[in-house]
Amino acid sequence: MIGAGVGGLVTALLSAASGFDTLVIERSAAPGGKLREIDAEGRPVDVGPTVFTMRGVFEEIFASAGAELKDYLTLTPALRLARHAWASGGRLDLFGDIEANVEAIGDFAGPHDARGYRAFAERSARVYTTLRDSFIRASLPNPLSLTTRIGVRGLPDLLAISPYAILWDTLGEHFADPRLRQLFARYATYCGSSPYLCPATLMLVSHVEREGVWSVNGGMRRIADALRELATKRGARFLFGTEVSRILVEGGRAAGVVTATGERLPADAVVFNGDVSALSAGLLGPGVRRAAPATEPERRSLSAVTWAGSAEVEGFDLIRHNVFFGPDYVEEFDAIFKHRRLPRTPTVYVCASDRLDDPPSSHNAERLFCLINAPAEDGASLSSKEIESCLNVAKGLMENCGLKIRWRTQTRSTPSDFARLYPATGGALYGPASHGWKASFQRAGTRTRVPRLYLAGGSAHPGPGVPMAALSGRQAALCLISDLASTNK
Ligand SMILES: Cc1cc2nc3c(=O)[nH]c(=O)nc-3n(C[C@H](O)[C@H](O)[C@H](O)COP(=O)(O)OP(=O)(O)OC[C@H]3O[C@@H](n4cnc5c(N)ncnc54)[C@H](O)[C@@H]3O)c2cc1C
Repeated sequence: MIGAGVGGLVTALLSAASGFDTLVIERSAAPGGKLREIDAEGRPVDVGPTVFTMRGVFEEIFASAGAELKDYLTLTPALRLARHAWASGGRLDLFGDIEANVEAIGDFAGPHDARGYRAFAERSARVYTTLRDSFIRASLPNPLSLTTRIGVRGLPDLLAISPYAILWDTLGEHFADPRLRQLFARYATYCGSSPYLCPATLMLVSHVEREGVWSVNGGMRRIADALRELATKRGARFLFGTEVSRILVEGGRAAGVVTATGERLPADAVVFNGDVSALSAGLLGPGVRRAAPATEPERRSLSAVTWAGSAEVEGFDLIRHNVFFGPDYVEEFDAIFKHRRLPRTPTVYVCASDRLDDPPSSHNAERLFCLINAPAEDGASLSSKEIESCLNVAKGLMENCGLKIRWRTQTRSTPSDFARLYPATGGALYGPASHGWKASFQRAGTRTRVPRLYLAGGSAHPGPGVPMAALSGRQAALCLISDLASTNK
């Protein structure tokens, strides 16, 4: 197993629980991959994912390994999913409950959009239900096999999910208020994509959030700690601070790895949890260069500029998840995907991790994590002047909405930093972007062109996000277990 991100940890847990001798080799000093945290005045701040959804996926994975998630993680549900604000005016909270949202949207934008929301909620639930078992939780289908999986009775559902429509256009059928269109379009960014280019099927993210957003006691890294702890109990071994520089291919099959220090470790199968693009970039050796589709730089998903630390805030009642929308969404995504520069009018996400729904922070200083979308690097880095000026606009946007932040400590990450952390990605955080209806089918699947080499993680099927990477890891374990079992008979 190469990599101890969520996908790699899940594969390691499930293969160890099935009795396979499992070794995880991770180049960082700790598990988690993108589940990173920094220290701010002695307390950890999440600087990777902050929104935890699809808790059931983890409950199933823990149950398959003979354990209960609740014995390893303490999760608290958020009643308010997120607070949204616009400099042009208006504030709207979204809830897990449809009726609460219908009421809030009615007060915010009137009865037309409240009805539009109800229909949108039903539609996004239908998209999710149609794709859950046929796509998200299954091996990578092609368009034909997806249709077969869904079956004749499911065909009306397949047509209703608007696979060829663009998210932004579909949202226009539901919402007259441009602010609401912008709010629900933001779900495209969860897959590192533009709402003007991605399929309307990504509206399913809205349904997933409505089914539950949880905060993880102690921070998101505890998910990785929990998976590692259980995997260790089931017999998996971990080697941290060790980079794999080559995947061995012998007799046409993956046969082990060579570490950066030259140690040769034979294996019956290899699972790669790093970004798939590292294979075609040759970072894992010539034998696996063509093992999976390459991600051309123009297909890269979003990167980000993030800043986090300890801060004092006033003037705006933050809840845990907050979004401050920029005035020109078209400009934001054109800048990033067409012109490969930072937006002049960024949208800012702020996670106030000491808060859940509404309680005031118990600290003078609290932990904040802020993020704006940014282009992945394509050879050239963003200049510090460009970054500085974008962050100033972001600050101005938050201040226009009333939020004043006085930072006591601050740590920044830019696309160049992400490019260093996640080799061969150019800083893209979500694998290839989901642009166009074919994109989901073009992602790398679990099995590669090299037998006994499998892929697990957010750049492979079914896509990015903590639960998706976990599902990818489960899929890798299932393939590996079935392949090894069939040859050991
Ligand atoms: C800023 C940010 C915000 C996000 N927000 C959310 C969110 O709110 N909710 C959500 O669900 N998702 C979010 N995501 C996405 C989510 O974090 C990822 O999709 C998911 O964690 C990816 O997991 P993974 O299995 O692909 O592994 P990764 O996290 O990519 O980890 C891969 C691991 O492999 C290791 N590795 C790679 N190559 C080698 C090698 N050659 N040798 C040894 N080790 C190697 C790396 O060091 C790394 O530890 C966010 C991501 C980022 C960066």
